[in-house]
Order: sequence, then C-alpha cells, then structure tokens
Amino acid sequence: MADPLSGAGLAAASDIPSLDRLLNAHALQPALETHGRTQVVAALRRDLDALRKRALDGGVPRHELDAAAVAARTSAALDEAARPRLRAVYNLTGTVLHTNLGRALLPDEAVASVLRALTTPANLEFDLDTGGRGDRDDLIDDLLCELTGAEAATVVNNNAAAVLLMLNALADRREVVVSRGELVEIGGAFRIPDIMKRAGAKLVEIGTTNRTHAADYENAIGPRTAMLMKVHCSNYAVTGFTKSVSVAEVAALAHARGLPATVDLGSGTLVDLTQFGLPKEDTVRETIAAGADLVTFSGDKLLGGPQAGLLVGRADLIRKIKKNPLKRALRVSKLTLAALEPVLHLYRAPEFLAQRLTTLRLLTRPLRDIQPQAERLRGVLAHAAGPGYAVEAVPMFSQIGSGALPIDQLPSYGLAVRHAGTGRPGRHLDRLETLLRKLPVPVIGRIADDALWLDLRCLEARDEAEFAAQLAEPLA
Ligand SMILES: *Cc1c(COP(=O)(O)O)cnc(C)c1O
Repeated sequence: MADPLSGAGLAAASDIPSLDRLLNAHALQPALETHGRTQVVAALRRDLDALRKRALDGGVPRHELDAAAVAARTSAALDEAARPRLRAVYNLTGTVLHTNLGRALLPDEAVASVLRALTTPANLEFDLDTGGRGDRDDLIDDLLCELTGAEAATVVNNNAAAVLLMLNALADRREVVVSRGELVEIGGAFRIPDIMKRAGAKLVEIGTTNRTHAADYENAIGPRTAMLMKVHCSNYAVTGFTKSVSVAEVAALAHARGLPATVDLGSGTLVDLTQFGLPKEDTVRETIAAGADLVTFSGDKLLGGPQAGLLVGRADLIRKIKKNPLKRALRVSKLTLAALEPVLHLYRAPEFLAQRLTTLRLLTRPLRDIQPQAERLRGVLAHAAGPGYAVEAVPMFSQIGSGALPIDQLPSYGLAVRHAGTGRPGRHLDRLETLLRKLPVPVIGRIADDALWLDLRCLEARDEAEFAAQLAEPLA
C-alpha cells in the first residue's frame, strides 16, 4: 500500500500521523522494546506536538512525518535521556586522587568483591561460627588492627563522618584543644571549627598560625578538656618560621593528664611511601606507635580503597564510639565493606602493592612508560585538534591530590597544547578544552599559562587504544 504521507512538498497539520498508528508502526518497535511504552508515548507526544506547531506555522517537509523519521528522532531523544549522568572520564588533570573525579580507583579484586556482595546474600551481620547476629565491623577490624598496630577499629562513611563521630562520642559538651596552625578547611565545606560545633564540642584554639609550643597545649588543659587533637595540614603547608608539636609530644602531654590524644590524619597511608620513591608521609602505624589514642583517616585517598572513614585506636574509645547513636546513622553499606576488605588484604603483601593497588600503581608509574606514550599520542592529538593548535610532548609534574602531601610533585610527562595563531589564546584553548570534554568519554585536562595540559600519568597502557580511537577524526 502506498504511504499517503510520502512524496515531496510540505505537509499540513492534518497530515501528521496519529499516535496509535505510530505505536503500531514497525519502525517504533525497537524503541518500545528498549524504553517501554510510557517513555515512548511521552516522547512521541513531544515530537508530534512540535511537528503540529511547525505545520501550523508554515509547514513541515513531508519526509519528516515518515514513521522511520519519527522513530529515529524519538529513539535519539530517549537514548540521550537514558544515558547515565555518572560517566567514565579520562583524568588527565595530573592530580591522581582527584576529589571531583572520584578519588581512588578500585583494584580488580575489590570490584569483583563488590559485584558478589551486590548480587548474592552475604554474612554482613551474621556470625557464621555461631549462627547468631554479627557486627558488620567484625569483617574488617582484625585487618585494620594488624595493619596499623591499633587495638580496635571501626568504619563509617567518610573521614568527615569519622571526625564528627569521634568528637561527639568523646567530647560532647567538653573542650577539644587544637593548634591554630591545624584548623583546616578541606574542600566541600569541611572545616574543623564547624565540625567541632556540630559535634557538640567546644574548640579551644592554641598557639598562632605558624607556631605552637608544648606549653600552649599544657596551659589550655582544664577541668572540661576532653582531648588534645591534632589535624593533618592536608592541603596546605606552613613553612618558614614555624613550630608545631609532634604527635609523640602531644600524646605525652595528654597522657600525663589522663586525657586521650587524637589525630585526624586525613589521607592516612598504611605503608612507608618512601620505599616506592614517594614523599614521606606518617603512616597510621607510626601515629599509633607515637602514642595517639585514636586516629581517623579516609578510605579513598592514599589508602586506595572505597569512600570510607576509618577509626583505629584504643579499644575502650572505639567501644564508646560504636555505642554512639551517630555510628548507626553514619554506618557503611555492604558495598563499602566488600570493597575495603580486598584492598586491605593487598597491604599484607607490600612487595606486590605497587603493581596491584591501582592508586599506588598510578603514583609510581615510571617516566619510561609515560614519556613514550606522550610521544605516541602527540600526533594523534595534533591531528584531532587541527592546524590551529601546536601540540608538544613535554615533561610536567603530577600531584598526589586529595590533601595528601600537598607540596610534593611527581615527575611526569604529557601533552601541552598551545594556540598556533596570533591573538589571545584563551578562547581557543577554552574551545579545545570543551571539545575534549564533550567526547563520548570526556577527556579532562587543565588550562594554565596559555596552554592546555594533558598529563598522561593516569592513562594506563590498557586504555591507550580506546583513548586514541576517540581522537581518530578531527574534533568538531
Ligand atoms: C580529606 C580530609 C578529611 C575529609 O575526609 P573525607 O574522607 O573526604 O570525608 C578530613 N580531614 C582531613 C585532614 C582530610 O585531609
């Protein structure tokens, strides 16, 4: 049967096919299979409304009314709406633990474990030895104690939650002594003074921004003091004429007065990073050994695991923390525990860590891998960017990120793109940055000093071919 709608020329509103006819048309069946009737009906209505409006305004080319054409538009709109909002990107920012790009990447063991925990029942709070009720913390506290030398451990949603819980459990309506040099703000509105207030504790600031002495701690201790607390200067460094008091000294002062010393270690590493050629950072074990009664740190910074807040320390303090009602509100899901356990296991064999722990593998990736990669990809990017840009393979520096070791930089290699013509380069660089960001797997770099910098440290060999394939054609 000839389609009455086919043929050249403009169609009128009365020529527009009915919704029912389209729903029965062969061309619409794939969209119905994929997106379901409700979504397809809504998308068809939107499409037909737009056609009707244009037909009344002057006319619509007849071929746009074909069922196949309607189906193509409808499917495209529905596919676009169904595309995940949380998408994979290439992190070429040079910051390995990038908070805005999701911090640590999980090793394969952890991914497999999460998948299992999500798709099968698990003994989350079930004691397989007794058949009775279990405690979800039991799944990882042995490991945490083994790796840190602490007596006891527990875990909550993130380190901000760990600090909040610790303060509320141990210092509600009492005073917490902190050096002015350590009153940090972490990105995303985590400020020690604010957390303190929310936890119900009263902050007692001591010393000055650049110098705090043991006597400052001593003089601040009074009948309402709950603890002495140290906070890692995660994202800044105090240099020059400075003095701070070590964990060991603060712990000795606290213990002499029967008080606990606590440390918010921020990133918190479990191994000596200098063995991997990375800058020195106090480990959790060293902090406990120095006398800290309680240490809090993140799961997804240097540790290389899932988002989590870990609390380790004295058994009596951990018990008190676990009894606090906030613990229940801040508890982790089985996803977190499923991911955390295999990551902690990797630390039991430190000689394999630099290979198996993704974060450490990226942080220790040798220049002899990164530099040839930059040279291989230089031409690819030059072709994709087009003649308006000059692309060079150049040395650069990566950062660890996420408040770990803020001033130390790792020698790396990557691509620097500059505008080849005259005039102000800013607009051209912004344009290229946008085009890269709009790719199916967005490429995220950074603009500085009139160049777009793409640090290749985090583009591992296994991802290189896919990365290059996206750039096979000139952009835009
Ligand atoms: C990162 C950090 C936090 C916050 O940790 P999250 O896991 O992001 O909640 C708190 N304190 C310090 C010192 C940090 O570096």
